Amino acid sequence: MATQVLDSIALEQLAGSVKGEVIAPGSDEYERARTVFNAMVDRHPAAIVKCRDPHDVIAVVELARVRAAEVSIRAGGHGVTGSQITEGGVVIDLTEMKRIHIDPEARVARAQAGVTWGELDAASQEHGLAVTGGRVPSTGIAGLTLGAGSGWLERKLGYTCDNLLEADIVTADGRFLRCNREENAELFWALKGGGGNFGVVTQFTYRLHPVGPMIYGGMLVFPPFAGREIAQAYRAFMETAPDEVGGALAFLTAPPAPFVPEEARGKPAVGIIATYAGDAEEGERVLQPLKDLGPAVDMVGPMPYMGAQQLLEPGNPHGNRHYWKADLMDELSDGAIDLICDAGMRMVSPLTVALFQPLGGAVARVPQGATALGRRDARWAYHVLSQWTDPADDERNVEWTRDLATSLEPHSSGGVYITFTSDSGDDRVQDVYRSHYDRLVAIKDRYDPGNMFHLGQNIRPSAEAAARAR
Ligand SMILES: Cc1cc2nc3c(=O)[nH]c(=O)nc-3n(C[C@H](O)[C@H](O)[C@H](O)COP(=O)(O)OP(=O)(O)OC[C@H]3O[C@@H](n4cnc5c(N)ncnc54)[C@H](O)[C@@H]3O)c2cc1C
Repeated sequence: MATQVLDSIALEQLAGSVKGEVIAPGSDEYERARTVFNAMVDRHPAAIVKCRDPHDVIAVVELARVRAAEVSIRAGGHGVTGSQITEGGVVIDLTEMKRIHIDPEARVARAQAGVTWGELDAASQEHGLAVTGGRVPSTGIAGLTLGAGSGWLERKLGYTCDNLLEADIVTADGRFLRCNREENAELFWALKGGGGNFGVVTQFTYRLHPVGPMIYGGMLVFPPFAGREIAQAYRAFMETAPDEVGGALAFLTAPPAPFVPEEARGKPAVGIIATYAGDAEEGERVLQPLKDLGPAVDMVGPMPYMGAQQLLEPGNPHGNRHYWKADLMDELSDGAIDLICDAGMRMVSPLTVALFQPLGGAVARVPQGATALGRRDARWAYHVLSQWTDPADDERNVEWTRDLATSLEPHSSGGVYITFTSDSGDDRVQDVYRSHYDRLVAIKDRYDPGNMFHLGQNIRPSAEAAARAR
């Protein structure tokens, strides 16, 4: 798509047609607004529009169309590929659209696209309710839901998008559409996992479920030499674990935190995060076999669901550098365990985490055709979440991450959970959606034939795909 840079006349026109602020280069505010979670993203848009409502979004989309300006959509700002900030175009910034309405009787939440998981969890938990949500509170509900939505509750409640009842969207032609199972049903289907390819979602409506407020869970930390044995025991435990059990097995560097024995700080470690989304007493009984593995640190016990949602927050501060790789696995093989155990002993950054995540349960039970996702049957996923602070270390970290992912290829089965990878190549995107890809292209042709929403992990309209193939 050919794009133009917006001139000052266009910016004035924009400022006159929206309620929110239009931020142009040259101010501290601009510097703040173009900064996102991943500090590797360093782009300079012509304007950032802090949209207040769907009318503002429509105004930006219309101006961008007329001026052939590139647009990007920024909600929580956590996308690791950097798709939320355009170079030279206009950012549709949704961070001020924060309205949340919970209907505790109907067990339904309506939340505008600028809401984060910390905010939605807090509002829902006031009523003892929740939907599967991101594991770090500052993550946006918008990008996460559109990418499927994985969280501690997924084996019990399915992905976040499995609980999506309705979405309001502004499409590339400036129309405002309500999508649900009856209205614009095909577009609604595409939004369940199809990412930011089809328009700007301004509001999400979710089915909520009783969760907590107290659950049973937390983290166990083991010494690194026990990694193989612990991973195998965890795999065996998860084979028969009930759907209420969520969590992951992580290879990490022990932080300098008071709960970590002094001699273990700064050294490789193996952690199990375990949550039980049900009766806390039952959770204690179910998770006991993990505690019996003899961890050096045992922080598993009764805790508020909000506490479980905040467990990973300290390890994920805003403004570090990130490069991620991931894939699904039909099974967790001994070979994959060995590779990650070995890599865990020689991580190039102490902030990096490599983990195995159990799937199955409700994730696998939702019918294959119900959402845009190409696969639901994988039993496990791996994530290599590289994180560091110094730009001088970029190459080393990216190379280490790529090498580990390449070595894991024989143990992976493809169909990656898309928002956990920095990859955005066409082959990778097609592999995510598999037999659903052509249907998604047809929906793209209908709602965004000019590929206005093309940044990031793009489903290309057929005309553009054909032109590229020539
Ligand atoms: C620290 C961290 C923890 C994470 N934990 C989890 C997790 O537990 N589970 C999980 O599933 N994922 C997780 N992710 C991945 C996360 O889901 C994605 O990064 C997601 O894109 C974040 O949403 P956001 O609104 O913050 O994204 P943004 O960075 O604001 O946007 C990313 C992209 O999403 C699309 N998008 C965003 N908002 C809209 C909208 N309103 N309409 C249309 N398209 C839109 C656009 O393509 C946009 O470029 C995590 C990411 C990080 C960095």
